[in-house]
Amino acid sequence: MARRPTRAERNRNKIIMWWGAAILLGVFAWNQGRVELWILPILVIAYYELCAVPTLCGVETSRGHPCKNQAYGRLIACKDQPSHAVYKNDALLRMLGFRRPPRQVSAPAPGPHDRTATELPMEPQVATIESKQTLITLLTVVGTIAGVVQVFLAAKN
Ligand SMILES: [Zn+2]
Repeated sequence: MARRPTRAERNRNKIIMWWGAAILLGVFAWNQGRVELWILPILVIAYYELCAVPTLCGVETSRGHPCKNQAYGRLIACKDQPSHAVYKNDALLRMLGFRRPPRQVSAPAPGPHDRTATELPMEPQVATIESKQTLITLLTVVGTIAGVVQVFLAAKN
């Protein structure tokens, strides 16, 4: 009767396991009656959403549709396209307000004395993340920070 579970089943088990852990920690915090313990379920859910949730890669290069490959965690790109991790990191950093110049794909542009070179530098490719994914990631980060701040404020009183 040993059957390899399908990816959908493994994903479902993973989701149940993570939410189960968060709920158990929530119940534990409730029973203990100590506000600061609420930090545990909050961090478990935040980690799960950002680094473990079964989702789609969602990287959109300048041409084409969002990547439909499986990824685990909203901060993580798919493993099938190694370049997607770089694009996703850059897009997330831009979302958080860190401006980084787009990656130069070609060789540096020729200097002013080099008249023989007529080639234009290649357009650096800028990738974005599917807007729905970006929104959920942003909400998770904001919600986590808000939750942690709430717990700290409540614990102080
Ligand atoms: Zn991808």
